[in-house]
Amino acid sequence: MTTSTDKLPTILIVGAGLGGLNLYQSIRKNLGRKFNVKIFERETSPEDRWQGYNIFINKKGVTSLFYCTPPEVQARFPEAMPDPISKEQHTIAMIDHFGKQLFHIPQPKFKSIYEIESIKTDFAGIITYRNRLRDVLLEGVDIQWGKKCIGYEESEDGVWVLFEDGTKEFGDLLIGADGINSPIRKQKVPNLEIFNLGVTSIDVDIAVPKHLADKFAALYSNALMQKSLGRNGDSTFSLMRLIPIDQSDEPLDDDNPESVIKHAILRIKQLRPPCELTDLLIELFSLVPYSDPGKKNLFRTYNPPRRRPLRDIDPLSVPPWKDDRIVLLGDAAHAMNPILGLGANNALQDAELLTKELLKCENDDLIECIRRYNKQMRARASKDVQSSRTTVLRQKTPVGDFGLVFRYCILRVINAIINIVFFVQTHI
Ligand SMILES: Cc1cc2nc3c(=O)[nH]c(=O)nc-3n(C[C@H](O)[C@H](O)[C@H](O)COP(=O)(O)OP(=O)(O)OC[C@H]3O[C@@H](n4cnc5c(N)ncnc54)[C@H](O)[C@@H]3O)c2cc1C
Repeated sequence: MTTSTDKLPTILIVGAGLGGLNLYQSIRKNLGRKFNVKIFERETSPEDRWQGYNIFINKKGVTSLFYCTPPEVQARFPEAMPDPISKEQHTIAMIDHFGKQLFHIPQPKFKSIYEIESIKTDFAGIITYRNRLRDVLLEGVDIQWGKKCIGYEESEDGVWVLFEDGTKEFGDLLIGADGINSPIRKQKVPNLEIFNLGVTSIDVDIAVPKHLADKFAALYSNALMQKSLGRNGDSTFSLMRLIPIDQSDEPLDDDNPESVIKHAILRIKQLRPPCELTDLLIELFSLVPYSDPGKKNLFRTYNPPRRRPLRDIDPLSVPPWKDDRIVLLGDAAHAMNPILGLGANNALQDAELLTKELLKCENDDLIECIRRYNKQMRARASKDVQSSRTTVLRQKTPVGDFGLVFRYCILRVINAIINIVFFVQTHI
């Protein structure tokens, strides 16, 4: 819903992902007296596309969510981030290719999402259903669905956003929150290109049967973010929630998804030594449905398994772009590979940062606020893009026996340092 005051400047948001929606909520909550807001999405409805993997929202992301959203949205957070059950640890554990533990970040105790902001340590956060978080953030948002943006035109006093259906909309500020393939970024900063890491990942959503979930939980000491490092440049990464659920039917036939899953299983067999962990991974992959299980699909929209290249965008790989009415937010400005779970957290923080800068608009002019936003956003996000990139590139390299010993030593040292920092943060 836009505010009724026509005299207020209008902010146009393109893209109703986590970043765009968090910003919309924040403008309504924190800037409603200063700006009108409108939001446009290329999808035709909330059910149009797959939104359904688990993500880790860290303390900074949680803080931004609370800053940006009104109480009625905050009241629904547990739908996306259910209270932890006693067994769960919302933290990461890393094991080697046989299942021997290398790394386990400690977990501060919390009873619900509402306690995370006040936890003293930075190692706090919660595994979140991405699709349900989007549903929650849609609360009270008047989205214009089916509006695929194809570019924009600037005029002296504003900006027109152009849509594929031939329509256009005028505003004072245009926010490109339209994801990694953002047409707005391609027009505004054409030299800011996507970097391909040369690594393939396969993302699947699985309703894990209890006996397998229990085996994984035992291997990873109940840590819900689970990583197993292979020695041949391969690795697996899973995010689980231990919520009891009904099991889906037997998978149906579907040529392509089947070939992808068979390929993943073959690679696991080729790259991993025979052991219990390898058998577990194969069993897990064999549960992936090859076609849409219909209403029984837990994730609302079905995403056929496919091989995807890991990619990212480093906003500091190009000189600073012009500070003007066209603003980039989230993956549109700084996509990062999912290895460290930082992409959505940065998109949420962008919304908070941009709001805080726009709040200062009274004394400064609009472009000065945008300049400060761009500068801080680029520096923060570039750091996370680079850490995520370095981690993947390091892990994709096969290691020999010597390299393996070296890797284990490094990880154990990091583990010890993290545990010391955690102890200091939580006890002092
Ligand atoms: C497997 C996986 C695991 C991940 N795990 C984590 C994690 O643990 N923690 C974390 O922080 N991040 C994680 N991420 C990253 C996270 O999902 C993204 O960084 C985050 O969704 C980015 O939000 P966004 O709003 O910028 O972009 P998006 O979520 O991509 O939203 C962009 C929106 O814009 C719309 N759009 C696109 N083009 C147009 C157009 N031309 N016109 C109109 N609308 C358009 C899209 O339909 C979409 O709704 C993970 C990603 C993957 C793939």
